[in-house]
Amino acid sequence: MTRPVLAKLRREVWEANLQIFHGGLVTMHSGNASGIDRRQGLILIKPSGMDYERLRPQDLVLMDLEGRQVEGQWKPSVDFPHHAYLYRHCPDVGGVVHTHSNYATAFALLGQPIPAYLTAIADEFGAGIPCAPYVDNEGDHIGEAILKHRNRAPAILLANHGAFTWGRTPRAALKAAVMLEDVAKTCYLSLALGKPQALPGEEVEKWYRRYHTTYGQKTGNRE
Ligand SMILES: [Zn+2]
Repeated sequence: MTRPVLAKLRREVWEANLQIFHGGLVTMHSGNASGIDRRQGLILIKPSGMDYERLRPQDLVLMDLEGRQVEGQWKPSVDFPHHAYLYRHCPDVGGVVHTHSNYATAFALLGQPIPAYLTAIADEFGAGIPCAPYVDNEGDHIGEAILKHRNRAPAILLANHGAFTWGRTPRAALKAAVMLEDVAKTCYLSLALGKPQALPGEEVEKWYRRYHTTYGQKTGNRE
């Protein structure tokens, strides 16, 4: 049985999960996307260990912010506590995505942040992508590391692990995950060719401000 009031969010979270799969950011059943209904304090997240090809909207697991399962026949993703931690501590966050996407994770494996090399990084993230030191996935360790080491960018690398992104909606979190992998790939290729230079802080600021004020259409296609 599904709650009609959550139908729209269920669709958005399902689509975000499908798109990280079809976009090549995850394989088989790794990674996960979630979204929250703030009025009800309820989170929809991918089930644990379910292949994306099999995933149907009704398979998403409904959880509350304290980690109690409200609805759904499957166990939630093992990463649920990290998603819930971000929702509990960041009231503006409406969607979270976790992947081990290859290029971003190549930087994470070395514990390396991605500096603001590109205007695309300045546009989308407004800063370089930080990398949190390695933490295990017990309790709140990952959530705490994300909050401790994040900057204004809605994305962070986790050393030896992968990436988390977030946004006001599941689609915004998805976009950040896609953009992160795209810029990580370009930076990887450039680093193979030579020594790229990061943009000066004031240039990052200019690009970020323009992108978040005047870019795009009024319908809000920046997300
Ligand atoms: Zn992971």
